Amino acid sequence: MNNDIEQVLFSQQQVEQRLDELASELTSKYQDQFPVIVSVMTGAAVFTVDMIKRLNFKLNLDYVDVSSYADGTQSGKVRLIKDLSTDIKDRPVIIMEDIIDTGHTLKFLVELLKGRGAKSIDICALLDKPARREAKIEADYVGFKVPNEFIVGYGLDYSGIYRNLPYVGILKRAVYEK
Ligand code: 5GP
Ligand code: MG
Repeated sequence: MNNDIEQVLFSQQQVEQRLDELASELTSKYQDQFPVIVSVMTGAAVFTVDMIKRLNFKLNLDYVDVSSYADGTQSGKVRLIKDLSTDIKDRPVIIMEDIIDTGHTLKFLVELLKGRGAKSIDICALLDKPARREAKIEADYVGFKVPNEFIVGYGLDYSGIYRNLPYVGILKRAVYEK
């Protein structure tokens, strides 16, 4: 598995240190706010679990799953395939996502959750790939900026694999071009 990685961008230690920093910012902001954490499956699962253990305030944890239409004609269309179980009306929401790429997924989610009456919405993303942004959306909290490469590890997959890598790296092109 490790042989398929071209370059490690952020080691486990670097990721963990950055999570400490993000969590302390969120902990200052969210005291007595009782937010709902909305984790976007499956990529954000590892990030979310590691983050919430560092958050020192009362919260609820819930998750959604989305998929993008990939038929070429509807680029940027996102569909909800697993909904929340929590009523978020008048609740502060923190969306936890693995990576913002084109931004369509998060734009869709923010509009959906606003429509349900969320009191406020913050986006907390482990990674940001600004080079490919199409939708007008930015994260409020970002772990790291990444180059325009295919990234795996720490929850991010290729074909369902590599999510369990404890670091963030660039996948070798040979893996997906063969
Ligand atoms: P967006 O809607 O912002 O284009 O895409 C967000 C989703 O695309 C992410 O949640 C992630 O699942 C997937 N994605 C975007 N870039 C990468 C990448 O470099 N590696 C992996 N594994 N997934 C990515
Ligand atoms: Mg995703």
